[in-house]
Amino acid sequence: MNSKQLFEESKKFLPGGVDSPVRAIKPYPFFAEKAEGSKLTDVDGNSYIDYCLAYGPMVLGHSNPEVVSEVEKQLVKGSAYGVPTEKEIELAKMVVNRVPCADMVRFVNSGTEATMSAIRLARAAKSKNKIIKFEGAYHGAHDNVLVKSGSGAAGLPDSPGVPEETTRNTLLIPFNNEESVIEIINKNKDSIAAIIIEPIMGNVGLIPPKNGFLEFLRKITLENDITLIFDEVITGFRIAQGGAQEYFKVTPDLVTFGKILGGGFPMGAITGKKEYMEMIAPSGSVYQAGTFNGNPISITAGLATLKQLDQQFYSDMNSKGKNFREGIRNILEDKNLNYQVAGVSSMFQIYLTDKTVWNYDDAKTADTDKFETYFKTLLKEGVFVPPSQFECCFLSKMHDAEDIDKTLNIIDTAMKQIKD
Ligand SMILES: *Cc1c(COP(=O)(O)O)cnc(C)c1O
Repeated sequence: MNSKQLFEESKKFLPGGVDSPVRAIKPYPFFAEKAEGSKLTDVDGNSYIDYCLAYGPMVLGHSNPEVVSEVEKQLVKGSAYGVPTEKEIELAKMVVNRVPCADMVRFVNSGTEATMSAIRLARAAKSKNKIIKFEGAYHGAHDNVLVKSGSGAAGLPDSPGVPEETTRNTLLIPFNNEESVIEIINKNKDSIAAIIIEPIMGNVGLIPPKNGFLEFLRKITLENDITLIFDEVITGFRIAQGGAQEYFKVTPDLVTFGKILGGGFPMGAITGKKEYMEMIAPSGSVYQAGTFNGNPISITAGLATLKQLDQQFYSDMNSKGKNFREGIRNILEDKNLNYQVAGVSSMFQIYLTDKTVWNYDDAKTADTDKFETYFKTLLKEGVFVPPSQFECCFLSKMHDAEDIDKTLNIIDTAMKQIKD
């Protein structure tokens, strides 16, 4: 069956034909056959240079030989035990050695689980219930954080089935706005347990923090007995060995990881300072558990991945990202298009707006119809970027000069079309 036929069939058995909403590309998604290096191949025989990279995890490219070989070796030794393994200690040590705020680690199965448990932990540690979240930030698909709407007040749920009683404790403010933070903390004196933040917003395109914003958050949370949680599910192990906290030199209390940490397999983690981490069961009373926590396959893939992420890797990725964005900027300049090229290290997005994007409202000024033209042109020419203006694109180790030249030429074609 081809992708079109598979989608017809799929819709009968999977809601909307997919297992996660973002995959419902219109008019129908292409179905994957295989992936290797920087390329993703579909069942229709097309091959794409992949800048989606499974929405972030595949930092070494697809089917990295080391990861494949280590996972093969582990597979024949069993894939789940229900008792601990030595490899969990090894990976935890690696995380602790790299991540500034990490003293201990709890491995879970996804980024969603990680933020859910980190918020529970912060609430327990502070004996307070409210949390602050930034508009447009994504922290997974659980009830506490499925809130985007509203401003400066408790947000309304984004999805039916989420009780207002739950989201009443989730306060929303715009990103990069110090006054809003001060105001909401003053209004909710002594009831805010945590601020949770993506240090670089990666789920509304890409929005970097303004100079000093993260430092400001660190200071105000310390002054007000609030836990600072960095959600580094995207930035962790992508922009530096120690993630955004190393990159921006701001150390939070708790961090959540996912995506890259599992080396292409499902995994998440909560890490942070010892006084917090020791509150987690069974060492403490904050409940957290999982049948597949610390799964040996995911742990093995994570180890094989992190071992390859050395300093050289990050300096290569930084310059690759920088050159690529410069290439895109040249194309835009050449065509007199005043669009925004946002990016940090190997993360990037083009915002089809003439407004500099510092928060969710700015991002929403982008022209999503034009973005669809851009996306479709790229796809037709063999380049796969996430189908939404409000996602972020990624480079991998395997994207070479040839891939990038080819991609820039195709972006040039797409921009020509948008202009006409
Ligand atoms: C992807 C993502 C999550 C959720 O992770 P899942 O593994 O999809 O549950 C949480 N936070 C951020 C910043 C993410 O990008």
